[in-house]
Amino acid sequence: MKTDDLPGLYIHVPFCREKCRYCDFFSVPVSGQLEQWKEALLREAGQHHDFAPQFGSLYLGGGTPSTLPLDALGEITGCMRELYEFREDAEVTIEINPEDVSGDYIDGLIDLGFNRLSLGVQSFRDEDLLLLGRGHDAARAENALEICLESGIDNVSIDLIYAICYQSPKNWQYNLGRALSFQPQHISCYELTFKENTELYEMYRNGEVLSPPEETQRDMFIDASRTLTENGYWHYEVSSYSLGEKRMSRHNSIYWKHFPYLGLGPSAHSFDGRMRWWNCSCLDEYINSAGAEKGGLEELSFGALEMEEIFLGLRTAEGIDLELAKRYLSDEKLIEVLIGYGLLNIEKGRLVPTRKGYLFSDYVATFFRPQA
Ligand code: SF4
Repeated sequence: MKTDDLPGLYIHVPFCREKCRYCDFFSVPVSGQLEQWKEALLREAGQHHDFAPQFGSLYLGGGTPSTLPLDALGEITGCMRELYEFREDAEVTIEINPEDVSGDYIDGLIDLGFNRLSLGVQSFRDEDLLLLGRGHDAARAENALEICLESGIDNVSIDLIYAICYQSPKNWQYNLGRALSFQPQHISCYELTFKENTELYEMYRNGEVLSPPEETQRDMFIDASRTLTENGYWHYEVSSYSLGEKRMSRHNSIYWKHFPYLGLGPSAHSFDGRMRWWNCSCLDEYINSAGAEKGGLEELSFGALEMEEIFLGLRTAEGIDLELAKRYLSDEKLIEVLIGYGLLNIEKGRLVPTRKGYLFSDYVATFFRPQA
């Protein structure tokens, strides 16, 4: 799997038009604080101008970056290019929601240098979208996807969610079929989870919504993997599929490969290869301290870094170095056992997960122990 060997730059845009019922990402309603947030962001960016000599990717996530007008986005990307060096073919991604998409807006994004769009479709069914509390319906999602794909950007990703309350395997197949009919270059499929402090979690606790049985959820994962790979997509990470190696998410691969990244904006995380730190999840605090107020910081020991490398590697097609794996297994014979269970394979000196191995990557990870 070819990945970028340069650090990535992430910017957290904390504004959303509405809060989706399932979401626990840090976001606040679109407000008059845009100017103050932007000012704090640019000040924070200045504090880290020496983080790396060059970046390989810029990723605007959130929140909903597409709530920002083009002039604000232009100011931000312009400032980042002044402060930091990006390699010539850097991947520049923006997350967008269907309700914000118009031909003019996408053309404006292209003019600003974005070369990858990540569209929050989630489902092509109105029932699902209503339950999730999304701000768009299925027709809007399809229309937005069409606009993105016809814009000239040949790197469009869509997010889909499966195991949405009451969603049947047939309904999930419908969503996969609709996605395939558009042929986006990248598809991410996430399982719905009920996260604490979300509206959906409360609804679940009160018995107002159900979730498909675990076995059905697993079948849905396998369905997605089979259907998408049979149609030319490469299943290169537990939740990620791309049309060929060139269209994998280079920015996300930096996280999975354990390469350094700098995160700017409230709640954003950073990692320099040894230390990890994250900003506070409060917009007022972020604005007042211009990112200086940290939510936390940790220094990772060499062993902890290698354990993370193993956990992350077990979730990607690249897998983990066989010698590294052996050092963290209590008994080398476990490799044969896990291969026998159909969870792992050995390829070119690496231990790589099978489709079933992706599904049970957390289980496989339990066999690896920190060294005494
Ligand atoms: S899922 Fe996306 S659009 Fe919805 S609240 Fe979360 S960050 Fe905002």
